[in-house]
Amino acid sequence: MINNDYHIHTNNSCDGASMPYEVLIKKAKEKGIKDYGVTDHIHTPYNFPDIIKSHQAFLKNKVPGMHFGVEVSSVTTWELNKISKGDYEGNITYGIREGGPKETNLAIAIDEVFIKKYDIEFVVGGTHWLMYQEYTRENLIKDYHRQNMFLATHPLVNIVAHPWWYMGPYKNKENQYATLPWFDDFTVIPNSIHKEFANALIENNSYHEINLGAIVLSPAYTEKFKVQYLDYLFYMKSLGVKFSIGSDCHNATYDINFKKANEMLDEFSITSDFSLL
Ligand SMILES: [Zn+2]
Ligand SMILES: [Zn+2]
Repeated sequence: MINNDYHIHTNNSCDGASMPYEVLIKKAKEKGIKDYGVTDHIHTPYNFPDIIKSHQAFLKNKVPGMHFGVEVSSVTTWELNKISKGDYEGNITYGIREGGPKETNLAIAIDEVFIKKYDIEFVVGGTHWLMYQEYTRENLIKDYHRQNMFLATHPLVNIVAHPWWYMGPYKNKENQYATLPWFDDFTVIPNSIHKEFANALIENNSYHEINLGAIVLSPAYTEKFKVQYLDYLFYMKSLGVKFSIGSDCHNATYDINFKKANEMLDEFSITSDFSLL
């Protein structure tokens, strides 16, 4: 049974996540989650005050088995430079998501100094957006792979969050993704790409996340896709990839269906390898 979770958002996160530490601690105990980590979002330094608040709340509520981490986004040096110069207009909660140069250098917002200062025990890094390109299947596969590779090889990132998670255009009337970019058939992403990603993870001692809330249990994804995705995880495991489990809980309470997730992962003999205990 799943008893760890290294991707959880609290009410300090910038994206509407709303669970206070007190609720997480109580519910984790009830659900038998013994080993877990909080990971609020950092897209750019604009989000630093959220993390500082989260760290203060963590210290106030600290219990054995609970760890302090962060979820960084893959962003670009272009937007980080613009933000540090104050050269932008409008809301930058999620960085600057339009107008940048194509295939510009990728970056994360934190460095070793920041990690030390806030006692960050682990870093989860995620691909969240297509970088300044036209939405096509080809561009999405190429750019998401480029970002996943960047995160897998980044010395400060321990876990690559939700590889091939996608949110953007192409949702249907039923509020699901069933077509582009890879939800009609996940095998449009060739094994050569998976192999390259697997090698990068293994060489850098990085973990591939199994994301429960946003992928495995997500109502936005079809059952057909989920089976293909679990098949892909099984393939990654056969290549020697190590996994970390993350609920990616964004809710007011810790209402993750670990039982259902466990049944799905069990069928493919997939378990978690990551632990800070
Ligand atoms: Zn994420
Ligand atoms: Zn997350």
